[in-house]
Amino acid sequence: MDFLPIFIDLKTRPCLVVGGGEVAARKVSLLRKAGARVHVVAPELCRELAELAQAGEIEHSPRRFQTQDLDGQTLVIAATDQESVNTQVSELAKARNLPVNVVDQPELCGFIMPSIIDRSPVQIAISTGGASPVLARLLRTRLESYLPAAYGRLAKLVDGFREQVKQRFPSTELRRRFWENVLEGPVAEQLFAGKEQSARRTLQAAVDAGDTQLDERGEVFLVGAGPGDPDLLTFRALRLMQQADVVVYDRLVSKEILELVRRDAELVYAGKERDKHTLPQETINELLVKLAKEGKRVLRLKGGDPFIFGRGGEEIATLMEEGIAFQVVPGITAAAGCAAYGGIPLTHRDYAQSVVFATGHLKDGTVDLNWQALAQPNQTVVFYMGLHGVNTICKELVAHGLPAYTPAALVEQGTTRHQRVHTGTLDTLPAIVKREEIKPPTLIIVGEVVKLQDNLAWFEPAGEEASGAGAGASQSGRASA
Ligand code: SAH
Repeated sequence: MDFLPIFIDLKTRPCLVVGGGEVAARKVSLLRKAGARVHVVAPELCRELAELAQAGEIEHSPRRFQTQDLDGQTLVIAATDQESVNTQVSELAKARNLPVNVVDQPELCGFIMPSIIDRSPVQIAISTGGASPVLARLLRTRLESYLPAAYGRLAKLVDGFREQVKQRFPSTELRRRFWENVLEGPVAEQLFAGKEQSARRTLQAAVDAGDTQLDERGEVFLVGAGPGDPDLLTFRALRLMQQADVVVYDRLVSKEILELVRRDAELVYAGKERDKHTLPQETINELLVKLAKEGKRVLRLKGGDPFIFGRGGEEIATLMEEGIAFQVVPGITAAAGCAAYGGIPLTHRDYAQSVVFATGHLKDGTVDLNWQALAQPNQTVVFYMGLHGVNTICKELVAHGLPAYTPAALVEQGTTRHQRVHTGTLDTLPAIVKREEIKPPTLIIVGEVVKLQDNLAWFEPAGEEASGAGAGASQSGRASA
């Protein structure tokens, strides 16, 4: 081990920073986060430091470094761009046995600064011993994505219970098991989901019951899986996917995404396709309740966002009635995904000041929509489930005042490797659907913004060779909400 990792308490301790540039400013900011009293010695300060000095947040000596600056310091950082000054600070500090860091010059350092993941009070420090700060930073980014932002709050919550738990569980072994269940079970998950009161109650109840087995009542995670590309999952979606006991998923959830689900989780396919509703909605609602009542962690995985044409509201209403705990995780909805990957901004200062999401799902062969409101200038309209009714949609929009030459696009299997984008006008769209044999899932985008696609298209999917792997690639017929 070249260095010993330690965490130093610097609260109200005097620390010296030599140098007044941006690099120095970053170090000053870290020291101040740790509560240190910072003295900066530098003939000039960058704007950020000058503002801090002016506000009295740091002490500033506008001159070159002098030996007596080291008097009474707890820790020293040299961050000037002059090697001779850095070397001098390093040598003098070392002669006094003061911990000293010289930015980017490990050979002059008495201590080095790690890359930090800060979920205070939880902190992770990463170091490569100065060998590769970039590697340390890359590692940090990876770890960041695994650690829920609320980790710090979890640690604080747990801290408040330590005494009680010690009283309640006399043996270390019991306590360890108890805390493991807390930190990996419902308490942690409730907290991460922003249900702080519930987390506290669950923890208190477990302590009161004196049971290391936390009350593992089932729970439902209603999770949006995004439009297809697994990279568009949220951190939370991924974490819950890896915790679930059962996954109830929709047709629109891509194979690649399902592969990220915990290996031994049970998979239940819930449909739905246009002509064969695999499970009716009521059955899905009841199934979720039943599984949760068996004590399972149930992941209800839906394409896009659960609250946008996803009937997520109905599913949680049933859970609510039955008193079952749940949380909702938003996903990137098809409109956002298809627009981004299709090169069609949904709003644009010159072309569209509003955007409307509408369903093109036909009830008994008619689309029951406020056509007048949809056929407005300077507005983008996105139709979900519109493929089957594309003729009606185009006809009605024109009948209600949009010019027949209004640009319109079809985005098929957006964000996946099978994405196809076709552009035309309200006049030509129905013919394109036929000619190109467009299949669901497809989104229809209507409005002037579609013109931008010519210049902004950037996504180049590989196309056909990997057939069957995209969102709903193997299905025919139309999705219905
Ligand atoms: N909750 C989902 C929408 C479900 S409705 C969401 O927020 O995205 C199903 C419709 O969504 C499909 O008929 C299609 O119009 C659209 N859709 C979903 N994923 C899509 C994709 N990858 N590409 C194009 N359209 C998609």
